Amino acid sequence: MKAVCVYCGSSPGANPIYTEAAQAFGRALVDSNLALVYGGGKVGLMGVIADTVMAGGGRAIGVIPELLVDKEVGHAGLTELHVVPDMHHRKKMMADLSDAFVAMPGGAGTLEELFEVYTWAQLGYHRKPVGVLNIGGFYDPLMSLLDHTVREGFMRQTYRDMLQTDSDPVALIAKLKRYHAPEKDKWADLRENV
Ligand code: AMP
Repeated sequence: MKAVCVYCGSSPGANPIYTEAAQAFGRALVDSNLALVYGGGKVGLMGVIADTVMAGGGRAIGVIPELLVDKEVGHAGLTELHVVPDMHHRKKMMADLSDAFVAMPGGAGTLEELFEVYTWAQLGYHRKPVGVLNIGGFYDPLMSLLDHTVREGFMRQTYRDMLQTDSDPVALIAKLKRYHAPEKDKWADLRENV
């Protein structure tokens, strides 16, 4: 594992624990010799984690669409900043550059990015680990909803278990490193049960 893609809010959140956790996660990436791949902005938790990685002597690679360079304040002090035509190019490049994916707390954009890579893993488009940094129980309601989808027969437990979770950045990185993708993708599994 060389680079971790981190999805996170373009806002700092209402509680300082989110900023503190973004700093702790940035330090953990540097200590583990892992590059940060992220959305390339300077705002919110995005800016916090990128600043922490750069200040710690690590590598931060940003990928930002032209339209958002001004809005999300494209970070000028990164190891690399790629300006791409649109959101689809951004997500593809972020995914290609990364060996694992982590969502920190964020809004609709963060959730969209998390669910895209999670569902791609479920379909077998990639075999990379996907996790959430569950700061202060932020993701507990989402975990409950996913458990509900399993109970109601819309998701197999195998795919629920693919999503790694921890409140501690170091422990989460260890889980990502230990992860093995399920042998079968969702459709192989469904065919066997027809
Ligand atoms: P948010 O969690 O809404 O603050 O957004 C966090 C990041 O996700 C920001 O950099 C947004 O530009 C980005 N984002 C928002 N919507 C999308 C989307 N549909 N696809 C990819 N990134 C998005």
